[in-house]
Amino acid sequence: MTKFSDLNLDPKVLKAIEDAGYESPTPIQAGAIPPALLGQDVLGIAQTGTGKTASFTLPMITLLGKGRARARMPRSLVLCPTRELAAQVAENFDTYTKYHKKLSKALLIGGVSFKEQDRLIDKGVDVLIATPGRLLDHVERGKLLLTGVQVMVVDEADRMLDMGFIPDIERIFGLTPFTRQTLFFSATMAPEIERITNTFLSNPARVEVARQATASENIEQVVMMFKGSRKDREASEKRKALRLLIDAEGEKCTNAIIFCNRKMDVDIVAKSLKKYGYDAAPIHGDLDQSQRTKTLDGFREGDLRILVASDVAARGLDVPSVSHVFNFDVPSHAEDYVHRIGRTGRAGRDGKAIMICVPRDEKNFEAIEKLIQKTVTRIDNPLKSKEEPAKVADDAQPNADEKPKRTRSRSRKSAPKEAAPVVEAAVEAVEVNDAKPVAKPDAPKSDTQKPAPKENRGGGNRGGRGNDNKVVGLGDHLPGFIAMSFEERSAS
Ligand code: AMP
Repeated sequence: MTKFSDLNLDPKVLKAIEDAGYESPTPIQAGAIPPALLGQDVLGIAQTGTGKTASFTLPMITLLGKGRARARMPRSLVLCPTRELAAQVAENFDTYTKYHKKLSKALLIGGVSFKEQDRLIDKGVDVLIATPGRLLDHVERGKLLLTGVQVMVVDEADRMLDMGFIPDIERIFGLTPFTRQTLFFSATMAPEIERITNTFLSNPARVEVARQATASENIEQVVMMFKGSRKDREASEKRKALRLLIDAEGEKCTNAIIFCNRKMDVDIVAKSLKKYGYDAAPIHGDLDQSQRTKTLDGFREGDLRILVASDVAARGLDVPSVSHVFNFDVPSHAEDYVHRIGRTGRAGRDGKAIMICVPRDEKNFEAIEKLIQKTVTRIDNPLKSKEEPAKVADDAQPNADEKPKRTRSRSRKSAPKEAAPVVEAAVEAVEVNDAKPVAKPDAPKSDTQKPAPKENRGGGNRGGRGNDNKVVGLGDHLPGFIAMSFEERSAS
């Protein structure tokens, strides 16, 4: 097996790797580092979780160890599709440059002031890590020249394609010297990506570590086919099913990312989970940067258990030990499924990916199974009960073993105040339709969940009137007057 010490890396880099606790290079590292160190272009076909970030940062640091940066002319450039991924690449650089105190870097991402970024660029940086839009903003303001770039990295090119960044990438390629070295990474090779690599890479070493669009073998994948009892109840029943699925995993679910297709659903699902006492927070592109950073840090550090995310926001999120990924929605692009579930089962750990599929998503689900060339195990709907599902969804009374509900004392009107209006309306629906919780099932597949009595708004029902409850302790022979309301009694 290849060792890091076989790879010709700078001894100071080797020391930093040792401090990071890595024992041996991952396959993408073993394949990409040697040609990169020889100055060759590299085409790395690898998904997140394979160690691909180190496969370009380690040789870059070794190569940049000699020489000095000039003002406004970075010596290397790493392009990332999202701010989060860019921030993570920057963190990787910090880890591996532990013993290279002189190497400087700057992070150019949106949501951060230009002033501070300009100051760093003016001083001269060895490594510039950027999202394409922000980078071009700096170039257009005349603050940045890319003519000194010796090494250019394009990370997660397939995601750049999804996000419409390919024209920007082509422009940026054109601003860098023809003689630059290019390290290009993508999880999949769509035809458009193939075209870019044919145009801008010169005789690259092609390193492919997993079959195209395959998920790690150590991720257990399951799907629950789900149909709401009624169309207007589907959303709330789906959220309830999600809670039951989470509960069913018990302590095995140490932390989880829940993916939704739409930002609005990210907010609703996070809010609904919080309402039911789960430690959950949303992340998507419409939240401001400081909040996104705070949420991600909390999740990374284990202070937040459940991150509800959109694809873009969770992109590149590097938390090595995510135990579960839930797909609240089937992603509409099959490749996103591979990216999403790649958030778990990282660095050789086991992971579990659980998806909910409603009838209208079945076509997309078929596309996923086709792409991954695997049949995903079907699991039972935990809401399936001998009772009508509609009744289950309308449960208003807490069951004895339900999750504690933190917002119970808040009025229905005040609960969703922080949300945007459209979300507020939807969350209001959560409040009513999700009505009341969760039989916390250790065995969610059981058919034993009983509907609780109908919701009791306005405090009536004290005498048992109008509900089907049994009066406990009197056997089957219930004297009629006990089941009557006070009003009826006084009227008669
Ligand atoms: P990446 O694919 O770059 O997102 O990396 C996935 C995770 O693997 C990160 O948490 C890295 O810190 C970790 N990692 C990278 N290289 C190695 C290695 N050689 N041995 C163990 N873990 C690694």
